[in-house]
Amino acid sequence: MNIKTLAIIVAGGSGWRLSGLQSPDENGRGVPKQYMLLSTQCILDHTISCFTKHREIDHVMVVIHREDQAVYDRMISNHEKLLPVVLGGDSRQQSVYCGLEAANKTGFDAKVLIHDGVRPFIDAQTISQVLAKISPQNGTLPAHRVADTLKKSTNELKVIETIARDNVFCAQTPQGFLMGDIFQVHKDAAEDKNTGEGVSRFTDDASMFEAVGLSVSIVDAPASNFKITTADDLDRARHMVAKQQKEVTKLHADIRTGNGYDVHALIPGDEIILCGHKIAFNKSLKGHSDADAALHALTDALLGTIGSGDIGSHFPPSDPQWKDAASDYFLTTALELVRAEGGVINNIDITIICEAPKIGPHRQAMREKLAQLCDLALGRVSVKATTNEELGFLGRSEGIAAIATTTISFGIESTLT
Ligand code: MG
Repeated sequence: MNIKTLAIIVAGGSGWRLSGLQSPDENGRGVPKQYMLLSTQCILDHTISCFTKHREIDHVMVVIHREDQAVYDRMISNHEKLLPVVLGGDSRQQSVYCGLEAANKTGFDAKVLIHDGVRPFIDAQTISQVLAKISPQNGTLPAHRVADTLKKSTNELKVIETIARDNVFCAQTPQGFLMGDIFQVHKDAAEDKNTGEGVSRFTDDASMFEAVGLSVSIVDAPASNFKITTADDLDRARHMVAKQQKEVTKLHADIRTGNGYDVHALIPGDEIILCGHKIAFNKSLKGHSDADAALHALTDALLGTIGSGDIGSHFPPSDPQWKDAASDYFLTTALELVRAEGGVINNIDITIICEAPKIGPHRQAMREKLAQLCDLALGRVSVKATTNEELGFLGRSEGIAAIATTTISFGIESTLT
């Protein structure tokens, strides 16, 4: 059975403002609180995301104040599942009815959730639990248990009584109903049937359900699903978003991979340097610097992770100052550039391609030298070698090539060892 679900987000409020926190727009109206920024997104945009990202929600409809179309268009992102806005009425109840009427006109008939636009911290689990409890003639609302002792007072603030707080809950939203049930209840209220008390008495939809004798169930929900009402609430909400975003940044660490390749010709000589390690050999590598193809490839791999050109652009072979230079200077410079961008090396992996000398006996010394140069644990440093099966210029021992790969995390606090 393909039950469709619609979330109606009520964001039609206009009368109440978080005073002193915004300037009036061209019409002299303050910016309604639902459009105030929590981070780079406004409160309402955050709230909408909670529903559009939920896998059990098929459509999201936002009911706005009739004067808020421009600010809505400016502040709300493009969300999947988001229907065109519906203009609301003068009270919350009337705005909900406007949304229900619009949904009814499209023939929508399944589960509907009604949510306050200024509750941006509704969690996915609570949404699922509310949806699961909806049944014919039964509404559902999330609520949290009252923690404080409750006092009832006179208008003059004299305590009349202490109210037992057992099984006393603070109502939240989204409140869920079958479309046919809640539409009928709202329709009757709008036509002043059943209640006989006018159309705007109710501050939530569950109360309307109760008023006509229908049942309402509670889902025990976290108190973090609060309604942003005061400047203190806004401060609290901004702190919560900042904390959430810090956690998301940690989860989605910026991991980058760089690669590098280098080759140098073999010429008559008595030693070669690879990975900063000297090997006695009957040839040398030809180059302007010490011709350490492995460190050159690694330097390029590091530069590749920050889009900072290559070894030739930092240390041009035409510049006499790099003649016979030790290649660990090139490597150290690239490491400094990467670290200046917040990079933390995860691993480096080098493959040396040559027929001779044999790399195996030198592998450990090369790894240790690289680990020392890069300030890495040995387990994060790999040196491998292969021949070129006597094919091509490498196979004829005319040169030695090296390939380097490195993976680097950016923008996270280093916990690597
Ligand atoms: Mg080179």
